[in-house]
Amino acid sequence: MIKAHHFPVQKKFGQNFLIDENVLSSIVEAAGIGSGDCVLEIGPGMGALTGYLLDSASKVIAVEVDKMLIPILEGTVGKDEKLILINDDILKVDLDGLIEKENEGRPIKVVANLPYYITTPIIMELLGRGSAIESITVMIQKEVAERMTEGPGSKAYGALSLAVAFYSKAHTVMTVSKNSFYPRPDVDSAVIRLDVYKPEDRPIKCDDPDQMFRIIKAAFGQRRKTLANALSHSPDLDLSREDIENALRKMEKSESIRGEVLTLQEFAALSDILSRS
Ligand code: SAM
Repeated sequence: MIKAHHFPVQKKFGQNFLIDENVLSSIVEAAGIGSGDCVLEIGPGMGALTGYLLDSASKVIAVEVDKMLIPILEGTVGKDEKLILINDDILKVDLDGLIEKENEGRPIKVVANLPYYITTPIIMELLGRGSAIESITVMIQKEVAERMTEGPGSKAYGALSLAVAFYSKAHTVMTVSKNSFYPRPDVDSAVIRLDVYKPEDRPIKCDDPDQMFRIIKAAFGQRRKTLANALSHSPDLDLSREDIENALRKMEKSESIRGEVLTLQEFAALSDILSRS
């Protein structure tokens, strides 16, 4: 198809198209798509996955940034009333408005072979949508999948692993060889499924998750600094050094502790102490 359409593959858009039919059907099966489901596909490309999704779901909203792919995609999937095709950058789309309009506000499922250059911002954005998203089944870089499930003490532990643990239950569906794509990427991939908790079912509670993630972002943005230093200098937080040190004392933590050793539960406790003081 790339040759037939003289399509210029765009590296800057993370275009590695899936060419393995077995992998395509396994993704749809792992996502558990049924006839009542509305699916959001990010980056449908030439429609390899879109066709499978349209076979199972009641509606597919496909958001593709590259306008040159739109006519190719329309040619592949044909006319289908179940398909809502949007030519836009997923990070600029009003997701809540879209879900309200296309699924009357009921939760949707996300399925995608993600563009790897923006995996983390996409996942962070999706997880922060509360109960608007039921599950996220995506192909990502294998190392990023590993990073998602790391805990304190590991170099890969950070804002992404904490967001995944706070908002969802994660499991790796399968690993996928780089040979399953064209053009072939440099790295192997993995399909992961995140089942997003309803806010009331989250195992770790926190009064103000947005504040907790601002704290986490500041703590890991300045990994080498002590937590008190990183938080008191963050432009995203309005916290005095004294308040932070008092909170750490309440938690029986040293003033010189670094953020990277705190567990999710401890970040939630720290955030609650700071917002209640
Ligand atoms: N789904 C297709 C497949 O499996 O063969 C293509 C997957 S390819 C890894 C990633 C797709 O995401 C490309 O079609 C690319 O143009 C699209 N894309 C890249 N950045 C995007 C963005 N910000 N918003 C929406 N789509 C994007």
